[in-house]
Order: sequence, then C-alpha cells, then structure tokens
Amino acid sequence: MVMRMSQVVAPTLREDPSEAEVVSHKLMLRGGFIKKLAAGVYTFLPLGYRALRNVIGIIREEMDLSGAQEVCMPTIIPAELWQESGRWPLYGKELFRIKDRHDREFCLGPTHEEVITDLVRDSIRSYKQLPANLYQIQTKFRDEVRPRFGLMRGREFLMKDAYSFHTSEESLEKEYQNMYQTYCRIFDRMGLKYRVVEADSGLIGGGFSQEFMVLAETGEEEIFHCNKCNYSASRESAGVGKYKAQAKAQAEAKVTEIHTPNAKTIEELIAFLKISPDQMIKTLIYETEQGAVAALVRGDHAINEPKLKKVLGVEDLRLADQAVIKKVTGAPVGFAGPVGLKGVKIVADHAVELIPLSVSGANKEDFHLINIVYGRDYKADLTGDLRFAVKNDNCPRCGEGIFDVSRGIEVGHIFKLGTKYSDKMRCVYLDEKNQEQVMIMGCYGIGVSRTVAAAIEQNNDKDGMIWPVPLAPFKAAIVPVNAEEPEQKAVAEKIYHELQAKGLDPLLDDRIDRIGVKLKDIDLFGIPFKVIVGPKGLKEGKVEVKQRRTGAMELVPLDQVSEKLVQLIGG
Ligand code: ATP
Ligand code: MG
Repeated sequence: MVMRMSQVVAPTLREDPSEAEVVSHKLMLRGGFIKKLAAGVYTFLPLGYRALRNVIGIIREEMDLSGAQEVCMPTIIPAELWQESGRWPLYGKELFRIKDRHDREFCLGPTHEEVITDLVRDSIRSYKQLPANLYQIQTKFRDEVRPRFGLMRGREFLMKDAYSFHTSEESLEKEYQNMYQTYCRIFDRMGLKYRVVEADSGLIGGGFSQEFMVLAETGEEEIFHCNKCNYSASRESAGVGKYKAQAKAQAEAKVTEIHTPNAKTIEELIAFLKISPDQMIKTLIYETEQGAVAALVRGDHAINEPKLKKVLGVEDLRLADQAVIKKVTGAPVGFAGPVGLKGVKIVADHAVELIPLSVSGANKEDFHLINIVYGRDYKADLTGDLRFAVKNDNCPRCGEGIFDVSRGIEVGHIFKLGTKYSDKMRCVYLDEKNQEQVMIMGCYGIGVSRTVAAAIEQNNDKDGMIWPVPLAPFKAAIVPVNAEEPEQKAVAEKIYHELQAKGLDPLLDDRIDRIGVKLKDIDLFGIPFKVIVGPKGLKEGKVEVKQRRTGAMELVPLDQVSEKLVQLIGG
C-alpha cells in the first residue's frame, strides 16, 4: 500500500477560519486535521487521527511499562453511583445527564472515579491483590460552559485516566511517584517542553495533586515559579509568602470619614481620594455553614475562594446577596469595611495587615474611611493566605525568591485521592488479620486529544505546524516536482518503498499540481522532513532533503536517502 497525497482526505482551507482563536485550532482546521460537528465536538480526519494515534501509542506503551493494566469502562453511568459518592448534585451542568426509556437517570462519564471504585470493590477482596493500577483511554463528556479552542476544551474529548488502589499511604506515595515518572517519560518522548506544578484538586478532590503543563505563550493557565527554588504552582493553588513588614504606620493619623457620593466604582474612588489600589481594603461578605464572614483582601489583589474555604475550614461558601450585606453592614453593596463591623467573623489576607494607612467602606452609604491602621482600628479574627498570587510575590516555600510567571496548557493531572471515594462507596479489602479496611486511592489523567493541540500550540511558525517527530502524522513526505514525469515518479516511488521498509511512515505527494502549492501544504501539515525529487538534482543522482523546523536543506545521493532519514528521524 502506498499512502498517496492525492487520496488523503484532508480538506484544506486557504484562509484562517474566523471561529478559531488559537493557532492550534486554526492550523488543524486549515490543514484538514479535524472538522467541527457541534460546539466542542469534532471529527478527527486522517491526518489528525494519525497524530492522535501517535499520542495514544506513546501513552499506552509507557502506561503498560509502568505496570498499570488497561481496561475499558462504559461511558454511560447510572446516577446511583454518582449519588453514592455525593457528586450527582455537586457536578452541576457540566454533567451530561440522560434518561433511559424507563426514566432511569444516567450520565455520560466526565471522569470515572465512581465506576472504577464500584469495579474494584466488587473485584478485589484481599490485601494480597493490592496495590493495583487500572487505566483506560476513552472518550469523556463534559458540557463545558465555554467549549473553545478546538480540541483544547471540547465537550467530547479523549482522556487517559488511571486509578490506583492501596493498603497504605506509603504504597500510594510509591505509585504516585511511579506515575509522575511515567508522565515525565511520556511527555519527554513526545518531545514537548513542560513543567510540573502543584495544583488545586477541584471537583475530583482529595489531597495533593500536580499538573503537567505544556509551555506555550498562548496557554490558558498561568504558572508561578520561584526564581530561587524549584517551587512551581498553578494560579489556583500557588501559595503566597508573607510580605516583609514595612515601616511602622504613622499612628497619629486618625481614622477619618470621607463623603464619597460620586465614587461608584473602585476606579472612581481611587481617583477621588488620590490613592493607589494597594491602599484599599476590599471587603467581601460571604455566607457559609458557620454564618456570614467578611473576607478582606488588598484592593489590587483577587480573592481565591478555595483558599478562603481552607482558611475558614468551611465546605459551603457563597457571596452574600444584597439583603444579607445590608443586614450585616447596615449599608448597601459597595460600602462594606472592617471598622466597627459586628456580628460577623473577619478574615484577612496577610497583605491587608501590612497596609500602613488603609482605606475602606464605612458601612454607611456614600462614605469611606481613610487612615485605617490594623490593630488600632480593627482586628481580624483570622488571618491567612486568601488570594491569587501575582508576579513578583514572595515564594512560600523558600521564602527567598519571588515568582516569575509563564503560561502553559494543562495536559495531565495526578492526584492523591486518599479515601474520598472509597469511604463513601465502601471500597474495602481484608487485611492480614481479616479485618475490613478502606482502600486508599490515587488517580492520574492525561488529556489525550488536548495534547495534540498543545503540541501544535508549542510548535508552529507562519507556514503551519511543526510536529515533534514522534507525533507527526507522517514523518517524511516525498515530493516529486512533476509527478507526471516518469523518472521523477519512479525515483519517488522507490524512495517511498525504502522509507516504508525502514518503518519511517512516509507520504508520497503524487498530486499533479505546482511544486510551490504542494510544498506549502506539506509545510502546513508540519511534516518534519521533505524529500524533493527534481530534474536538477536527478542529473547528479541526488535529491533534496529538507527539514521543516530549521529549513536546512541538503543534497543527498539517491542511494543514501533512506540512511539519511533514519539518521535524522532517529536523532
Ligand atoms: P481544566 O482545568 O482544563 O478544565 P480539569 O482540571 O477539569 O481541566 P481533569 O478533570 O484533571 O481536568 O482531567 C484530566 C485531563 O483532561 C486534564 O488535565 C486535561 O488535559 C484534560 N481535559 C479536561 N477537560 C477537557 C476538555 N474539556 N477538553 C479536552 N481536554 C480536557
Ligand atoms: Mg475542567
């Protein structure tokens, strides 16, 4: 079988499609790699599917080598399992919910903790069968609020998910490290540049987790890393080291009430009072299961609700509505402040205590207070790290360095789940003493289809994609200048068969078209190497071998072409 370009179904586009915002999405549509069926739902065409298969192949090989066992679980999941874990009401609209003809409820699996826990509680009985790690490569469904960027955030996408089960924390730690190393090997083999960051566990929950981020300026995620130690974290979870205390406040400046009738927004207030945002205290009123709380962050900082939850030790946290705010502060929305605030717990971010003279709402319509000193005019019941990190914040780990920020795409996420699911779902085993014990779990995901997009996002130029060799849909294209000319045609076919025999995954561009047009397409597809067979070279018994990434070109004698490509592709 010869893979001929004239027969490859790749409906290329001349122009950038208007719906595509990021480069990987644009190039995959332009190159005819994928086709949209509905928002966040795509068909993989042959070129796209070849790249996807390469990603799958590397993941499967490395997972098998790690000792994990492949399974395939259903995508249709009965609601009862999700009710058992407690996630049925929590997962909200992202969960695709369906009913069968008997009105029984199901969901399309967005992740498989419940199904695997159910499987393992029925299949593993004894400590002798543990630890175990089961994985699958399977389609997931999530009705994302904003499906976008093509394969990057789909509503139907391919994931590799693995789940491990243990009798002890040490055993989990060992497997977690095994998965960490396996993920490093996977992304190394793909030729991707990435960083591993500490992460927030989100709706999957449990304890510690880390994300694998493919570095790309266009990435959705911000990565904070210390310039002195190896601390790296996502925006959601980056801890913030305390600021060094500044010079003592001028305690003689008295708190003063200022009439601010025309300052409706923070910007207007700042302009009116001639202050900077870092002098402001933002006061947010929340409702929790422990009652209302007032959370304080500096005016130039953003509150991080998961951190606030942790500091307060609450599960349920919602911004209070107008009525509650009025009741708590005595003023309409926009005038809350900590001074004189009674009957609510006050929790402050570390940076708030250190503002020398701060400004906040006066708990009175159209009034603000200036010259507020922490400790003199108000005190928080609780202080902690409540906010999102920003560039140049202090590292919480070494206390020496400050944060640099780069951007990335989350392609993998590994979690220590602990007993979050096994407890609720009674996933137990019998130990040496024949006692029932709850299994300890880990889970490990890779966004398989997202990785295809991330690879393009990291590797492209003005002419198109530049595939890392291990992921390329074809590793080399053989392009005769004139596909109808008998000698060129014969030489091209001969080279094709030689490369194929060496397992180099070649493509023969047999299209009867101008050479410029053909080379443009091959470049758009990002095929790493081109062998161009033209009349000038053939006179000397040579062909051109050209590299996509560097543009480097070499004339290679016909009898050395396959050797040359083995050398280039191998190294
Ligand atoms: P995100 O924060 O990007 O929504 P997530 O934390 O919800 O991701 P996980 O539940 O950890 O993701 O899923 C495992 C992996 O699946 C992610 O690391 C990511 O690579 C991939 N993934 C998640 N959601 C999508 C999606 N909508 N489309 C494509 N891939 C996705
Ligand atoms: Mg998500």
